[in-house]
Amino acid sequence: MRHSILMDCPLPTSFSSTSHSFFLFVLVLLLNTCLHLPNPAVALAEDSSSSIISRFQQYLQIDTAQPSPRYQEAADFLISQAKSIGLESQSIEFVDGKPLVLLKWAGSNPTLPSILLYSHTDVVPVEQHKWAYPAFGAHLDSHGNIYARGSQDMKCVGMQYLEAVRRLKSSGYQPIRSIYLSFAPDEEIGGHDGAEKFSASDIFKTMNVGIVLDEGLASPTENYRPFYAERSPWWLVIKANGAPGHGAKLYDNSAMENLLKSIESVRRFRASQFDLVKSGLKEEGEVISVNMVFLKAGTPSPTGFVMNLQPSEAEAGFDIRIPPTADPEALERRIAEEWAPVSRNMTYQLGQFKQKNTVYDNFGKPLLTKTDDSNPWWILLEEAVRKANGKLGKPEVFPAATDSRYFRLQGLPAIGFSPMANTPILLHDHNEFLNKAEYLKGIEIYESIIKVYASYVEHASNEVTKDEL
Ligand SMILES: [Zn+2]
Repeated sequence: MRHSILMDCPLPTSFSSTSHSFFLFVLVLLLNTCLHLPNPAVALAEDSSSSIISRFQQYLQIDTAQPSPRYQEAADFLISQAKSIGLESQSIEFVDGKPLVLLKWAGSNPTLPSILLYSHTDVVPVEQHKWAYPAFGAHLDSHGNIYARGSQDMKCVGMQYLEAVRRLKSSGYQPIRSIYLSFAPDEEIGGHDGAEKFSASDIFKTMNVGIVLDEGLASPTENYRPFYAERSPWWLVIKANGAPGHGAKLYDNSAMENLLKSIESVRRFRASQFDLVKSGLKEEGEVISVNMVFLKAGTPSPTGFVMNLQPSEAEAGFDIRIPPTADPEALERRIAEEWAPVSRNMTYQLGQFKQKNTVYDNFGKPLLTKTDDSNPWWILLEEAVRKANGKLGKPEVFPAATDSRYFRLQGLPAIGFSPMANTPILLHDHNEFLNKAEYLKGIEIYESIIKVYASYVEHASNEVTKDEL
């Protein structure tokens, strides 16, 4: 929020005509004093948008693409930023060569749960020849679009946290709750050496985190998109066995025939889920998606496949994504009874390649963050975005995986939110970009959120009551 210079200064409400010139003198003095106090408007003028954009570009220019991200360079840059702002900083390596940068702005009441502003430093690789500009050049075009891998996912958010904190600090704001900023490695390859170890660490416990903000998605409309949950990946392989036979023979229970029946059944289920999305009854993240990703069958020959032989085995693989609102037991029953029934000589493996993520947290509750009155952080987010003249869309289930799941597993509320409105969704795509104006607007949004979150105290009494019970 921006203030006029006069707003924060005390002014006399009445004066007599004889003291008119004296009052003017006092007014000039007051104005002069106000101009020398820390004030957001002054800070903004000093820190022009071009230097804000240039710091964003510097972060984008560090090539942190998997599989060989320049993590140390990113960590050095972030720590130098933290020093320039006056934040406590440390670099933690749960695994050698994979630093997680943790910054802290201590609150005036350290007994209250803290705020964690989370982001990841790595990005996905690029196919440079399909880009209009160098993917790590951070080119700013004449429309104000900044092209770079990570401009949406999610170096924008990491830098916006820092810029928002920079402004709040220079405005003289003092948080009541402590604010942590973390910049973690390896999100794009599963987060095992980053968020997973961090969220389970002793350091994390001492931080006493009350709420986590993490990444969301760009929104092509004027509404920002908040995410309260995500779907868990289940990787399913089904295998059919049957008697081999001559290619000319019609008989029951061949492996191919049995597998095809299953594929047909999966296909019907997939269509029913997709219809819910097409008809607008459900969002993409709220349905179970199933996509066949491989088919393996046939008897190889030097020229291809043996054509006059029906094989004795056939396999198909599926990528399934299940929202926390779905019933996982019902899906497992469906797999056992319809997609791979023993009666059709079928077997299945769920979790081959290590993917069968739980849809429950460590306390047995569905892996999601409440978006109603029972979660004050949700209500405060709505309030903060509104205060900064932003619009928040309906909360959604993230269609893929993010590091938020590790924090939700610990029973913590985590909201996925990247303030990018009026922006095409280009994460992991060629020519990923973010407009300068949207980026700057996002900083104001975070300023508002951080202020509202870090000033929130009512929660304390609830927590005490909960502990006492
Ligand atoms: Zn991301």
